Amino acid sequence: MSDRPAAALALLGIVAVALLIAGGALRYGRPGPSRAGARARRAELLPVEPAVGDRHAAFHRALRPWTYTALVAGLAVPLLYGLTPLGAALVGWLTAGPAPLRAALGGLVLGALAEVVSLPFAVRREIVLRRYGLSVRTWRSWFGDAAKSVALGAVLSAAALAALYGLLGASPRWWWAWAAPAAAAVVLLLAFVFPVLVEPLFLRFAPMEPSPLRDRLLALAERGGVPVRDVLVADASRRTTALNAYVSGFGATRRVVVFDTLVTGAPAAEIEAVVAHELGHAARRDVLAGTALAALGAAALCCLLHLVLAWPPVLRAAHATGPADPRSVGVLFAVLAVVGLLLTPVQNLLSRRIEGRADTYALELSRRPGVFAAMQRRLALTNLADLDPGPVPYLLFASHPTTVQRIAAAHAFARAADLPLDNPDVPGHPPEATA
Ligand SMILES: [Zn+2]
Repeated sequence: MSDRPAAALALLGIVAVALLIAGGALRYGRPGPSRAGARARRAELLPVEPAVGDRHAAFHRALRPWTYTALVAGLAVPLLYGLTPLGAALVGWLTAGPAPLRAALGGLVLGALAEVVSLPFAVRREIVLRRYGLSVRTWRSWFGDAAKSVALGAVLSAAALAALYGLLGASPRWWWAWAAPAAAAVVLLLAFVFPVLVEPLFLRFAPMEPSPLRDRLLALAERGGVPVRDVLVADASRRTTALNAYVSGFGATRRVVVFDTLVTGAPAAEIEAVVAHELGHAARRDVLAGTALAALGAAALCCLLHLVLAWPPVLRAAHATGPADPRSVGVLFAVLAVVGLLLTPVQNLLSRRIEGRADTYALELSRRPGVFAAMQRRLALTNLADLDPGPVPYLLFASHPTTVQRIAAAHAFARAADLPLDNPDVPGHPPEATA
């Protein structure tokens, strides 16, 4: 078999395996209440004062232009690199030296320019976040974080490009067969070390102080059959007022992290409900499944890149003499941007199902749907969530079900399990709504 049919076949095979893994998550993940169905019941499930609703809407109206211009720029700049002589001109000034080095340096130039174009939109978004009190950081800290992420991305992409063009030079027709498993292995390794090597660059973590809350959370984990050595508290309050928690890593690096804003900003029962959701991710090994999908995605991308680079019209458009010519780096940027954008709605769809499943796990573990609904309400109000996302933002940006969907799920669980919707940990707290 010649190289191109082989790459196409490998691509199809990898996509099939990815679909099997994603299908497993979709099959077990309960779809939950539909967005449209939940939305119709918003006034009943998530009643808010008109002023509060207006403030949420104004916040999202203020963010939207910058979010969408960043999206358009993130696609347009790489397409200009790949489909016009621009990429070739930015990479081609390096005429001497080995191809891997020229590809890596050229990639740095293209990446730096793309960052410069997107920086103003990111700054505008940060200004909106500050105006609404969600961001409490200094510009020094903001630019420091941005510089750290850019530097990290630059090191990783320069290494990837040098390796890729090294392989391309050594085996122009079969480089992808080596690159695909290597890329998958690198993704697995990065996800494994991410919590211990990368997250500490941005947040400081400390084990939760001995306290009744900590005892409750560890008892909850034990009840759920999810061994947790510690719950880590991140000092997110130096940057944000938002409430959050997450799980990351797998195997020896797996951890449950809660923001300090959550620890000080929510009643213990609601923190317990948040952690129960995170334990749901741990119980179902969602991080591992997500990492496996990302690894397959990296392998598939290598096969796709070979098919694209072996297509003469693309190389002509990019003004590259052949796939191994470093001036084809612009094509890589374009393919990555297009594939990334096309996959975003798919990723979000899968993510929403996985998040819905973690919600179900949390409801079944704590059996306190009223507390769960109150927690969802608190998160939405504190984090200025979009209370009524339209279909396009839902498709493009919603990695979680909407707050109304999640509260509807809690109400449905209460009805099915015949449990009350009260919130006993907050004295005098009324049920969120009568179901
Ligand atoms: Zn989650």
